[in-house]
Amino acid sequence: MDTIADILALLRPNIRSLKPYSSARHEFTGEASVFLDANESPFNAPLNRYPDPLQEELKEHISNYTGIDTSSIFLGNGSDEAIDLLIRSFCEPGQDRILIPEPTYGMYQVCADINGVECNKVGLNSDFSMNTEAMLAASQEPGCKLVFLCSPNNPSGNLLETGAIRTLLEESGSVVVLDEAYVDFSSARGCMDLLEDFPNLVILRTLSKAWGLAGIRLGMALAHPELIAILNKVKYPYNINSLSQEHALKVLLKGKEEKEAWVSSILEERLSLEKSLRTINMVEEVFPSHANFLLVRFLDSSLVFKALKQRGVIVRDRSTQLHCENCLRITVGSPAENGTLMETLKQLDTIKE
Ligand SMILES: *Cc1c(COP(=O)(O)O)cnc(C)c1O
Repeated sequence: MDTIADILALLRPNIRSLKPYSSARHEFTGEASVFLDANESPFNAPLNRYPDPLQEELKEHISNYTGIDTSSIFLGNGSDEAIDLLIRSFCEPGQDRILIPEPTYGMYQVCADINGVECNKVGLNSDFSMNTEAMLAASQEPGCKLVFLCSPNNPSGNLLETGAIRTLLEESGSVVVLDEAYVDFSSARGCMDLLEDFPNLVILRTLSKAWGLAGIRLGMALAHPELIAILNKVKYPYNINSLSQEHALKVLLKGKEEKEAWVSSILEERLSLEKSLRTINMVEEVFPSHANFLLVRFLDSSLVFKALKQRGVIVRDRSTQLHCENCLRITVGSPAENGTLMETLKQLDTIKE
């Protein structure tokens, strides 16, 4: 079991000793009416001012909403920013490694590649559950600093077992990053409750999916305050722009009712799309999903992909990924979008017969 000191010892030495850039707005606290400290324009208020570098007001609202203290919240330009910052903070290029299950979200590997950090993969079992023994063994190899887990997993849509996640938290000796981008669409509560017990746990959440706000780029990392302080030290000073902060505030002030209605509607659509897909002859398997997409195995996914594309319907081809032969990942859209998808598939089915 790791302490926060054990975790901070995993940081790259240059990051541990880093003295961060101190912006004008960092150094000033208190009330003032004349701001001549940041070389901003006096014109074009309010956008003439740099945004709050630590997004205090927004974090207060997120804290009220989640019950997580503001000191345990990092806000990023999408959760992708947090993924990159974690790799840059912990992994020495050419030396340290990250570990991911396979298949999973592509950004973990891409961020590792960009940073010159090796990415080790352990295959999920064929039902997409975690091979806990193999993951644990790989996570205990020297140089493995971060383990990325995604639950519900993209592209398979299943939840990872809490027991398996706990095992890695307890025994890996690494930071475990649990990406819960899709947790709002699942029956699970997510693992926020584990934050108190595990200083090596980082949970990623995003406004990009259930909240319908992919365009404003706002994601978050939840973790021990000392780990959050590291991310704040490494990030660009003004990483969340004023327009995104303001819009997110407005949305959170409105409350979660609208979001919850959207989620219910997507869950209803997911169920009916699942049923309709099972009536299609070319469909071999629809995998159970806890997310806002369905992984679907076709008899010939490349034929279906091309035919859909020709008719202006774009889905995600996952057929080259482990255990995903002939699989397409289909986002649950609006009733009209899902209707168009189904009509197109039915036409194809009859042409084939
Ligand atoms: C879509 C997605 C995200 C969201 O990333 P943002 O940068 O917050 O938009 C994160 N993780 C996974 C697994 C995703 O599929």
